[in-house]
Amino acid sequence: MTTETAASATATGGPDLPQERRLVTEIPGPRSRALHERRTAAVASGVGSTLPVYVAAAGGGVILDVDGNSLIDLASGIAVTSVGNSAPEVVRRVTEQVKAFTHTCFMVAPYEGYVEVCEALVRLTPGDHAKKAALFNSGAEAVENAVKIARAHTGRDAVVVFDHAYHGRTNLTMAMTSKNMPYKHGFGPFAGEVYRAPMSYPFREATDLTGAEAAARAIDVIEKQVGADNLACVVIEPVLGEGGFVVPAEGFLPAIAQWCTDNGVVFVADEIQSGMCRTGAWFACDHEGVVPDLVTVAKGLAGGLPLAGVVGRAEIMDAPHAGGLGGTYGGNPVACAAALGAIATMEQLDLPAAARHIGESMGGRLRALAENVPAIGEVRGRGAMLAIELVKPGTKEPDAALAGRISGGCHQAGVLTLTCGTYGNVLRFLPSLVMPDHLLAEALDVLEEVTTGLV
Ligand SMILES: *Cc1c(COP(=O)(O)O)cnc(C)c1O
Repeated sequence: MTTETAASATATGGPDLPQERRLVTEIPGPRSRALHERRTAAVASGVGSTLPVYVAAAGGGVILDVDGNSLIDLASGIAVTSVGNSAPEVVRRVTEQVKAFTHTCFMVAPYEGYVEVCEALVRLTPGDHAKKAALFNSGAEAVENAVKIARAHTGRDAVVVFDHAYHGRTNLTMAMTSKNMPYKHGFGPFAGEVYRAPMSYPFREATDLTGAEAAARAIDVIEKQVGADNLACVVIEPVLGEGGFVVPAEGFLPAIAQWCTDNGVVFVADEIQSGMCRTGAWFACDHEGVVPDLVTVAKGLAGGLPLAGVVGRAEIMDAPHAGGLGGTYGGNPVACAAALGAIATMEQLDLPAAARHIGESMGGRLRALAENVPAIGEVRGRGAMLAIELVKPGTKEPDAALAGRISGGCHQAGVLTLTCGTYGNVLRFLPSLVMPDHLLAEALDVLEEVTTGLV
């Protein structure tokens, strides 16, 4: 082990890390480049990285790299570290738990933390009906289990998903995911009985459609091509994540949910990216008062530790036979301790309000930028889940190259941004919800400077 990696392994993160953008080398710097060389030799090339800057510590709104650069983090590890990296309450509870025991397998010998996370999910998810939950390792695994539960409950096979959907990288969730490259290409054959309906994507509709009209269009496809009697569940992201941070037209989600209720179909909200305070409410469904039958959660749930869950109506959750759900690591005690720390932080700091505050300040800045930059076709999102869609000026033709250049320019200037979207032309912003105002403002200054310099 080299001295620099030994040093970086002991760096301290958390909110006390100086909250500043500071570049001391080019990006990536020499130590990151050396690590990248080792990585290229040892790590399979199918696993990519947005920015090959190797991390020494992170916290609040910054990532400190192994060269001493401090970058403003507008990614949060893809909406995961919403409470900030190494959040104090997460670190405290994880440290205690890791000293007590690291694993027994909940299916072998249970423990309180798992029960407490399920109690919290039951309490926080939309609706005050009887609910239950089960815990897993990853978002994809949660989605798979939601489908298993819906099939067990209904005795039906078919699953409906939407255009631009992203649900994961396992076999079933690849089938449920819309975009071929990079998620599916060459990885088939895929699971059967998955059908795709048209999404409400207001910016890209040929004519203005209300939410109710877009829902009627989707329901028509579902009834004609699948049939309610064959349909176990409809799975939808209330705000599209990887698909481009699309907020469906108002009324779309309630109409789809109502049709599911009327037809005995389980309505599953995939809130893996949009949930846990990200959009300015505990769950994105809350904005329209939609009460899903099942909700999948993961990303923001456990402050960076791998944990996922399915939570919903008790009678649906209880449909699978005893022993039918589980997994060796699902609801690992250390991950549960992290989730309890993250949830306590969200409640104590009122992070839904923090997300709304970020959404207002960032949204205002992005809309002002859009007025001067005709290549920004739309500014959209909810709370601290905001994006800009880039197009050829005066058209709606996607401009993925420009999105890539802006993102790359931000990286060079010390701001970590992500792209997304079916056409790869959307820049998305996912700051931690404890991001200091001055850092967010500085990140937007950089974005503005980079963008206006490129168009
Ligand atoms: C990330 C994501 C998933 C998959 O989660 P993993 O933990 O990567 O398996 C599923 N659905 C949505 C909406 C996501 O954003």
